[in-house]
Amino acid sequence: MPEGDALHRAARRLQPLVGERLDVETPNPRAQIGGIAEKLDGRRLLGVEAVGKNLLLRFEGGYVLRSHLRMNGRWTLVPRGTTKGRPWLVLRGSRYEGVQWNGPVLELTTRAIPRLGPDILDDPPRIDEMLARLRRGDRSRAVGDALLDQRLVSGIGNKWKAEALWEARISPWRPLAEASDEELRETLAEASRLMRDSLDGKPRRNRVYRLVGRPCARCGAAILSRGQGDANRIAYWCPGCQRV
Ligand SMILES: [Zn+2]
Repeated sequence: MPEGDALHRAARRLQPLVGERLDVETPNPRAQIGGIAEKLDGRRLLGVEAVGKNLLLRFEGGYVLRSHLRMNGRWTLVPRGTTKGRPWLVLRGSRYEGVQWNGPVLELTTRAIPRLGPDILDDPPRIDEMLARLRRGDRSRAVGDALLDQRLVSGIGNKWKAEALWEARISPWRPLAEASDEELRETLAEASRLMRDSLDGKPRRNRVYRLVGRPCARCGAAILSRGQGDANRIAYWCPGCQRV
């Protein structure tokens, strides 16, 4: 699942197209609804940025193309004229083309996108504002569930949620009401640090994510997993050193 860091990498990758007038095509029939190609063809791309898990491409004329990658979507940048197959979208510049594969969300809008919490990859991250949002909601909600709510904090996905909570030694099951400000701040700071390192290409071994049954690197207890929250996303944690 692409998380915020993957979206930021995609935004960086597409920067060579910024400032250019683009030829726009939608080879895949699933992307042809909404007339994206007709509306954007020949317009100048003004900017590409990742906001949480969305990639926003701003075009002249006030158009904003929102791309959400869900599980399988991706963006590539290749030399002009070399794309084969049926991507959803091709943005062709003078030397390169940006290519969007597998959608699955491609939406053209002239409005602002839905209200999202502060982006965990803002530099520096707005920890105070994220904390205030976490404190405003349901106090019985588990920390691990709340961290995935994009209205509270945007950009954290399942993997970095699990890893940040392990670093901060907090169980994903702890209710928000029982987590101190200091603990929540530390968790958010760890998520920001881990994701920024990932964005910068620094390798790191997972400590709990997808490591069910393996011994914890810190205390040796066996890693557990269980579905969490309305979406039943799998939480991973160490019962030995992450405090409920
Ligand atoms: Zn442990």
